Amino acid sequence: MADDILLAIDQGTSSTRAIGFTPDGGLAALEQQSFEQIYPGPGWVEHDAEVIWATVMSTARKVLQLLGEAKRGVAAIGITNQRETTILWDRRSGAPIYNAIVWQDRRTADRCRQLAADHGEADIGRKTGLRFDPYFSATKIAWILDRVPGAREAAKAGHIAFGTVDSFLIWRLTGGRLHLTDATNASRTALYDIGKGRWDEALCEMFSVPMNVLPEVRDSAGDFGHSDLRVLGQSLPIRGVAGDQQAALIGQACFAAGDVKSTYGTGAFLVLNTAQRLVVSKNRLLGTIAYRLNGVVTYALEGSILSAGSAVQWLRDGLGLISRASDIEALAAAAPHSGGVYLVPAFTGLGAPYWDPDARAAILGLTRASSRAEIARATLDSVAYQTYDLLDAMAADGLRPETLKVDGGMSQNDLFLQRLADVLGMAIRRPANAESTAFGAACLAGLGCGVYGSLREIAALRRSETRFEPALGARDREIQIAGWRDALRRVRSA
Ligand code: ADP
Repeated sequence: MADDILLAIDQGTSSTRAIGFTPDGGLAALEQQSFEQIYPGPGWVEHDAEVIWATVMSTARKVLQLLGEAKRGVAAIGITNQRETTILWDRRSGAPIYNAIVWQDRRTADRCRQLAADHGEADIGRKTGLRFDPYFSATKIAWILDRVPGAREAAKAGHIAFGTVDSFLIWRLTGGRLHLTDATNASRTALYDIGKGRWDEALCEMFSVPMNVLPEVRDSAGDFGHSDLRVLGQSLPIRGVAGDQQAALIGQACFAAGDVKSTYGTGAFLVLNTAQRLVVSKNRLLGTIAYRLNGVVTYALEGSILSAGSAVQWLRDGLGLISRASDIEALAAAAPHSGGVYLVPAFTGLGAPYWDPDARAAILGLTRASSRAEIARATLDSVAYQTYDLLDAMAADGLRPETLKVDGGMSQNDLFLQRLADVLGMAIRRPANAESTAFGAACLAGLGCGVYGSLREIAALRRSETRFEPALGARDREIQIAGWRDALRRVRSA
């Protein structure tokens, strides 16, 4: 029995996947389970942490069973997770004291506005790379401590633990023995000084988060203990951990300064490797930790698009123009171009680099010649234009990548990727292995257990890909981007 499989646990926002990878990056076994989204009020999004745990247990056990039947064993486990999502549990019982508050949750928006007014963005930007925004874990932790009766007192007595999802899973997998996280996940809490590499006392005080709830921060590849026999039926080393976007960066082998990937799912996340340079953006992008290996931190610059695939979902569910998301490609292909129609998908406001939570979506430029096909095209185009604006902001920060690697559900759309190449004026590269995020976690586990000796070895794994080359003339491109900018101006809230 060859014990060389790398088992990735990919705990995402809408589903959990367990995937066994062979060391050359091949897929050995996969199991996926989606779970309930809980919406207790407008702008509130929660998950039941016990349900998350149950999906991890059942998918991982199923994959171990499939591997066992194929006479293959696991060398190490890697974990990747939805980032920023916040869980507090009681160390004595291991039971969560409240549902997981999901990254998308906006309940602490007022608190963030207040903190920004009192303190300004400069200090938090310099220390954490982030902004005052409900996205990040800090205000979510304080909200739970303040709203759950007795939680503050229990925390004072040392009974409460905080974790992002990785941390909660490590705690559960190790039978409640280890309270750990990795540097990428720590960098999304707004409590971690990413330059100095430590929890920041002043930030913890400002956000009213007691430091004794925080996990120990480790390298992204290294020792995170072993799974307890009673949990998975096998004692397996946990050797890699990273937040989902960072894991995708690793899975796409973006290891050199200037390498950039964009993941097009519900939203879209652009992450650019800046190597050992922590870039404090002057253009409202986020600085973050890409990974930490052997104590050495690699940084990244990040921008997120709030509506990407979700705009396609709106065409399907809101307008009923298509019955499956993938149908948008054929519909868009029925028109040669968008005919001057622009869709600005500000359904939940606009993310980086605009940061306009109050903007709302619009379709502009309609004429009697406009049809469903032009609207479908405008929808795909809007994601390309938003990507252009992020890369434009990165360029203004002095960073100009040459090609863009893509993944995520929407990257299966060839027409979209050709438009992306045309709008960006840049080659787009889509790997044949669609599971970049899970593969990144497997890579870290492989580094942590010695299956791989270095990042170079991972980069050298044979990867087939499809390339999309820009084919649009410079003049047309400029006109189209100017049209987008005009549409954008008209939906901005201020
Ligand atoms: P997430 O991880 O955020 O759940 P996925 O990476 O699974 O997202 O991608 C799903 C998203 O991609 C959905 O929002 C869907 O509308 C969109 N999508 C899936 N297939 C296509 C396609 N062929 N063309 C355009 N959008 C697509």
